[in-house]
Amino acid sequence: MKALTYRGPYKIRVEEKPDPRIEHPNDAIVRVTRAAICGSDLHLLHGMLPDTRIGHTFGHEFIGIVEKVGPSVQRLSVGDKVMVPFNIFCGSCVFCQQGLFSNCHNVNANATAVGGIYGYSHTAGGYDGGQAERVRVPFADVGPMIIPEWLHDEDALMITDAFSTGYFGARLGHIKEGDTVAVFGAGPVGLAAARSAWLMGAGRVMVLDHLDYRLEKARSFAYAETHALSEIGDPVLHMKRETDHLGADVVIDAVGAEADGTVMQHVTAAKLKLQGGSPVALNWAIDSVRKGGNVSVVGAYGPIHSAVRFGDAMNKGLTIRANQTPIRMMWPAILDHIRAGRISPREMITHRIPLDDIVEGYHMVSAKLDDCVKTVIEVSDS
Ligand SMILES: [Zn+2]
Ligand SMILES: [Zn+2]
Repeated sequence: MKALTYRGPYKIRVEEKPDPRIEHPNDAIVRVTRAAICGSDLHLLHGMLPDTRIGHTFGHEFIGIVEKVGPSVQRLSVGDKVMVPFNIFCGSCVFCQQGLFSNCHNVNANATAVGGIYGYSHTAGGYDGGQAERVRVPFADVGPMIIPEWLHDEDALMITDAFSTGYFGARLGHIKEGDTVAVFGAGPVGLAAARSAWLMGAGRVMVLDHLDYRLEKARSFAYAETHALSEIGDPVLHMKRETDHLGADVVIDAVGAEADGTVMQHVTAAKLKLQGGSPVALNWAIDSVRKGGNVSVVGAYGPIHSAVRFGDAMNKGLTIRANQTPIRMMWPAILDHIRAGRISPREMITHRIPLDDIVEGYHMVSAKLDDCVKTVIEVSDS
């Protein structure tokens, strides 16, 4: 089959790879119809995640058709069209039983923090991802869901990570009626977090980013008030001025480790691997939320120590909540909102390209070319 493969930092290509096989009775093999490139895939491309091995296939956002099932799979049959959450999880361990699907204890022998994630290096279990013609789906009875008839394929694809992660970010913020919510980052996750904040009762939603075209998307997709980082000077002082010098009630970091930081932070993070990336956005969040406020972190950070302003967080009495999204926990509420017509996650999509062009697609996403927000890979027909 054709698959995107990693060849070392900044090097990827599409090449022939053996088809995945059923390796466990609970596995399914899914023929991918649509996949997406995620901003967090850039961390892999740029060599920022430890133990990203040559030949690894990225891609944790995909939908497709079940092509084979292992002998103990009961809920899925060949021919089913499924959406697959980016988490791989067992559904029965002590963490899964609490709904902490992104922290499953049984799917990642390589780490005690993160669970299993498709196409996200051996740090996240070493599972090949869905930017390929086929993918092995472990615990097939637990993760995937048959796509309901009424749901558009592209909406299904957008909730395998991006929209669901933004929604989760808003939920982690414990937004109360009338709260002022600030979102750092107007990528797909930030857009979804801002859109979701309204659904949870926010009275004011601000989005901060440095790219004008993304702020435009924040206005049109998320109905948010936008603030250009290129114009406002120090974002922390700006936020104070905007909120009677109190700070926002809730701040969501939807940027993660590759926020535009100082050169020094970039060097210590990317070159020396001393930090899990520059925590610029997280420090802005800590310093611009009000005392006693909530900081929600859904931007992706690597597992290594990051220079976070923890003293500020402690002395302000903040609640900081963070996790990889337990995607399946978000689906019931999100599907209700889509079905009722309140949201349409696929409106985030700006580009559609074939698998053969995915290397150029990564370049476009990485360099933010052509006003790119979300890029879908059209792998095969459903
Ligand atoms: Zn993603
Ligand atoms: Zn589990």
